[in-house]
Amino acid sequence: MNLIEAAQALDRLGFMPSKSGNLSLRTARGFIITPSGLPYEALTEGELVELDVTGAVIGGQRRPSSEWRLHQAIYTARPDAMAVVHTHSPRATALSCARRDIPPFHYMIALAGGDDIRCARYATFGTPELAETAIEALEGRRACLLANHGVVAIGQDIRAATTLAREVENLAGQYLDMLAARLEPALLTPAEMEAVRDQFEGYGQRLRLPLAPSPQAISRPG
Ligand code: 13P
Ligand code: ZN
Repeated sequence: MNLIEAAQALDRLGFMPSKSGNLSLRTARGFIITPSGLPYEALTEGELVELDVTGAVIGGQRRPSSEWRLHQAIYTARPDAMAVVHTHSPRATALSCARRDIPPFHYMIALAGGDDIRCARYATFGTPELAETAIEALEGRRACLLANHGVVAIGQDIRAATTLAREVENLAGQYLDMLAARLEPALLTPAEMEAVRDQFEGYGQRLRLPLAPSPQAISRPG
């Protein structure tokens, strides 16, 4: 799966309404990102944009995604991130508008790396502040919600990041369903979540998926 195939797959799922969302891949010189505001159906390799680690455009003719700072900040702060997926998938975005973290109501929350999936503080799209709040919310995690906005998921490759973005949408939908039914979720304990993470290490065909030791390489105010 390449960047364009991933973008088109997410778009077909309705995760990128009104040409929202963006995707990127780490490269030797920086990262390759989708262009700003171009529909995904007809996206070609030549329309992707390469930026270096400082955010300077080093390849491609198009303007990069308006969220290039978000992607750049993640590649700087998170050595474990080889790919970044940002979506406006409907149910996770609905939850983000309530600025709610997703608690450990289901064991699959552990796929995102921790005991919950946080919702980042609100910041305007495309700003350095948004990048900063996302890095905070991603601490010890591979995914977060962006308040009143959408989802960010990172992975060891584009398939892993895409799969996680899909799972966040799935979990957000289940959580919203419980809230709508006025059910009180029975939350898993930290020990139960730790046991899930241990179990995942030997699950399926995968080897370990380590998180970065320190996601704090980006400075924070105050
Ligand atoms: P771009 O089209 O510039 O990537 O912006 C979409 C988006 O989701 C902004 O947050
Ligand atoms: Zn967005």
